Amino acid sequence: MSADCLFCKIIKGDIPGTIVYRDEQVTAFRDINPAAPTHVLIVPNKHIESVNMLIVDDEPLIGHLFIAAKKIAAQEGIAEDGYRLVVNTNANAGQTVFHIHLHLIGGAPLKLQMG
Ligand code: AMP
Ligand code: ZN
Repeated sequence: MSADCLFCKIIKGDIPGTIVYRDEQVTAFRDINPAAPTHVLIVPNKHIESVNMLIVDDEPLIGHLFIAAKKIAAQEGIAEDGYRLVVNTNANAGQTVFHIHLHLIGGAPLKLQMG
């Protein structure tokens, strides 16, 4: 936990968030400024600033994040039609919250083709 981190505060319940999934390792809540009909942020309960700060011990946690994404996509009813998973890192990618998070975006055809 980091005292001045927005997502740590949402995980703790100090700031409101629309939680859609939670387990012992990750929490998922709706993005406040959705880029598509479904836009969920999946975050580790452990404070990690960005992909750059990952350590080898985080490997199972990051795998867990993707398994949570798969479950939430099914729960949201977007698994079959498809969705995008995005992780922004630092300035060139436009990272604004420095607590690592996986964007789960779907619910409609996504216009901007990346990759
Ligand atoms: P990123 O640009 O990858 O760092 O993504 C940060 C995301 O957090 C943006 O999509 C914001 O809309 C979202 N966000 C910012 N504040 C909140 C909040 N209080 N609750 C939910 N999502 C938020
Ligand atoms: Zn944090």
